[in-house]
Amino acid sequence: MKLKCLGSGSSGNCYLLIAGNGETLIIDPGLQIKEIKKALNWNISCVVGAVCTHHHADHAKSVKDLEQMGISVFKPYESPQPMSIEDTGWTIQGFELTDKTGKFMHTNADGSECPCYGFLISYPEMGRLLYITDTELVKWRFKNVNQILVEANYSKEIIQQENPNYEHVCRGHMELGTTLEFLKANKGPDLRNVVLLHLSDDNSDAELFAARAKEVVGMADVYVADKEMEIELNKEPF
Ligand SMILES: [Zn+2]
Repeated sequence: MKLKCLGSGSSGNCYLLIAGNGETLIIDPGLQIKEIKKALNWNISCVVGAVCTHHHADHAKSVKDLEQMGISVFKPYESPQPMSIEDTGWTIQGFELTDKTGKFMHTNADGSECPCYGFLISYPEMGRLLYITDTELVKWRFKNVNQILVEANYSKEIIQQENPNYEHVCRGHMELGTTLEFLKANKGPDLRNVVLLHLSDDNSDAELFAARAKEVVGMADVYVADKEMEIELNKEPF
C-alpha cells in the first residue's frame, strides 16, 4: 500500500491510499479537483471512494466534484450512513472527534463547534490505519493498529514565544504533547508507521516533532507529511 500526500496543512489536505492492485481511496479531498486528478494520472476508474473529515474547504474543497464524477464520498458530518465499498477489501469506520461531554473539538471561524470525524480504515496488505486530524484531543483508544496518521499541529513551547494569544490561534487543533500522549496510549507491537499531519507553518518544527514521536513509538517508522511525500504502508515488515 502506497500513501501519497498531495497536501498537508491549512493550505489544503489530501492523501491517496493506493493498493497494490491500483485501487485508490482518497482521504480529505481538500485541494482543487485538477490537482487530485493529476495525482491520479487522470485515471479516476481506480478510485474506490473518498472519505472526508469535516466541511472546511482545506479538507473538503473537491467533495462535490468527486460526487459529480460518480465517486462516493463518506462524510459522516452530514450523514452517518457508512459508505459501502462492495466487493473490495476496504473497511471504513468513522468516529466522532468529541470530548467526554460529546462536544466536537474542532471549531468554525466564529468559535462554534464544527462536527469532525476520524477514520479507521482497514485493507488486507495495510492492516488497520487511523486517520485523525483537526481536533484538540482524542478520547478513543484503539487496539492492533498498524498505521497511525495523526495531526501534530503546533508546539506550545514554540508558539508561546511568538504569540501570547496562542490558545485562540490554535483552537481546534492538536498540540504536540497531546499527539505524543495519543501515540503512547495506542501504540502496540503491530504498529509499523506513524505519519504526523497538518503541521502549522509558523508554530511547528518537523525534525523536532518527528524525533519526539520516534522516542514514543520505538520500532515504528515516523514521517512528517508534506506535499510529494510517498511512502509504503504495509502490515508486514519486509
Ligand atoms: Zn477545519
